[in-house]
Amino acid sequence: MQCARCAAAGEPAVFRVRGAVVVTVLAVALWASWTILGTALHDMAEGIDPHAILGPRLLVPVALLLAAALAWTARVRRPACACRRPLLSRVGGAVPEVEPSGRRRVLRHGLGIAGAATAGAAVVMARNRGWITVGRNLFADVEKTAPTPRAEWEGATIRSQRRLGRTGVLVSDISLGSAALRSLEVAELALDRGVTYVDTAPDYAREGSEELLGRAMMGRRERIFVASKFCTADGHLPPDTPVPRIIEAVEGSLRRLRTDRIDLLHIHSCDRLERLLAPSFHEAFDRLKEQGKARFLGVSSHSPNLHAVANAAIDSGRFDVLMLAYHHGMGWELDQILARAADHDVAVVAMKTLKGAKHQNLTEFREEAGSYAQAAFRWVLSNPRVSCLVISFSELRQVDEYLHASGTTLTAHDRAVLARYDRLIDGAYCRPHCGACLDSCIAGLPVDDVLRYAMYFEDYRSEKEAMRLYAALDGLDASRCIGCAAPCAGSCPHGLAIQYRMLDAHRMLTPA
Ligand code: SF4
Ligand code: SF4
Repeated sequence: MQCARCAAAGEPAVFRVRGAVVVTVLAVALWASWTILGTALHDMAEGIDPHAILGPRLLVPVALLLAAALAWTARVRRPACACRRPLLSRVGGAVPEVEPSGRRRVLRHGLGIAGAATAGAAVVMARNRGWITVGRNLFADVEKTAPTPRAEWEGATIRSQRRLGRTGVLVSDISLGSAALRSLEVAELALDRGVTYVDTAPDYAREGSEELLGRAMMGRRERIFVASKFCTADGHLPPDTPVPRIIEAVEGSLRRLRTDRIDLLHIHSCDRLERLLAPSFHEAFDRLKEQGKARFLGVSSHSPNLHAVANAAIDSGRFDVLMLAYHHGMGWELDQILARAADHDVAVVAMKTLKGAKHQNLTEFREEAGSYAQAAFRWVLSNPRVSCLVISFSELRQVDEYLHASGTTLTAHDRAVLARYDRLIDGAYCRPHCGACLDSCIAGLPVDDVLRYAMYFEDYRSEKEAMRLYAALDGLDASRCIGCAAPCAGSCPHGLAIQYRMLDAHRMLTPA
């Protein structure tokens, strides 16, 4: 725009975009970024559409952001009216009397585009701020195993087999857990290297774990001992499930595992005697056993009610295997159960052996530890009452690292590494089979479960599974801790600041 005086004086008119137009185009572009790109990124993060952000939905917001950048550069190119140039000079504006050089024009356009892109990205990230923690964990270059693999671990194989209680079967001391297994190559390599016990469940990767193991076991099923669970992709079967429904679920596992029998069926994550002894499970198991579709019965538990569950399982005479959380630092309470199980020739399979697997996040611990995992495994296997330990494999190099511990003996150095780990995680690790704080929660929250799901998220890197489990708490979640007077404070004998940990877990496990 040019004033009448400049026009009369014959000053050259320069087209300049109005400020209101720039602001409007930018506002529309940011709105489109929020609603279209932000939603696309959310869909991608949630796994609904892995390519959402790369599809046609990208075009509209990007075109609008580009338009905003061009509008801005057109506005700042030069004052519209010659008479305003001195005024702008006085307020600090660099006012060109002539059109700027090509280099300066490129710089100006570049700045405009970079500014619009930054604003758009900020809006998209703000729309998905709840996923930022997820993203940091998904994409951060964090060590998932020992930071410095050693040459002597290469090609490690199973070197020890142990008797699985009264089943009489010999199994590898280190076994293939599949909760985080997503790679056929990893499963095949572990089996090639002598692992003979695999542990799976229909709800691991929504049946994907069983399917993958079925493929990995092709041609070698006879030498593998397969453990699965009474559950479906949606979770554990409740105690009142009709017998035909239980049998149907197990037959689904048989199909996915490409086998005619499952060696061991667990009542999974069992906390209640009502579920442990549910007639429906036992009748279904007996029928499956008669048909040759199942061989042995087991129970897995990491609940506070372990003593009652384990003792009832042993006393019932029905169970051949107990699968328990067991790691370094566990004392006489667990030893009592292990001794009773040994007296009845009931096998003990150890899980959760890495005591929270927090070594991945302990930067000050990495180099010193060498392999914390090997030390932790040796501690567990130093107890002859443990038949084997189940550890989740997710990466190829874990096969070398983990199997190197097979058949080896706990050393003084291992003990020092484990003691240092304990010092570093003090006050941060919720112990399995504990539950000492549960009665102090006025809302009746399953504090131990919430903190375990946070561990799955943060330390095991099973983000989606952790969020799924947390969502299934159905209202009994840590949102109830917001604004609570926290009578639970001080009730954890292991020094956890419960309310703080619960709120942190809620933030982590709740999508935006
Ligand atoms: S928070 Fe503490 S008291 Fe509560 S279950 Fe965990 S370790 Fe036990
Ligand atoms: S802060 Fe949370 S865990 Fe503690 S008493 Fe309140 S609701 Fe329960």
